[in-house]
Amino acid sequence: MSNRVVEGRMVTAESLAELIDGDKPMEATEIEDADRECPDCGGNVISVGYMPSVTAFMTGYKCQDCAWSETEEQ
Ligand SMILES: [Zn+2]
Repeated sequence: MSNRVVEGRMVTAESLAELIDGDKPMEATEIEDADRECPDCGGNVISVGYMPSVTAFMTGYKCQDCAWSETEEQ
């Protein structure tokens, strides 16, 4: 499990998914580099795949430097 620093705080895949979604995920995959820049501040964007429920799989994107985030249903 690789931890990352987001907005000055250390996050795991689970806590990153919770930060993006607002709810604790049932499951979360590894944090990956999203290979894109934050549209708000140009910072590095990381992504995490997670399951908010048994029937859904989402990809969440989060800037490491500001509050920007985005979700995409898979
Ligand atoms: Zn940003």
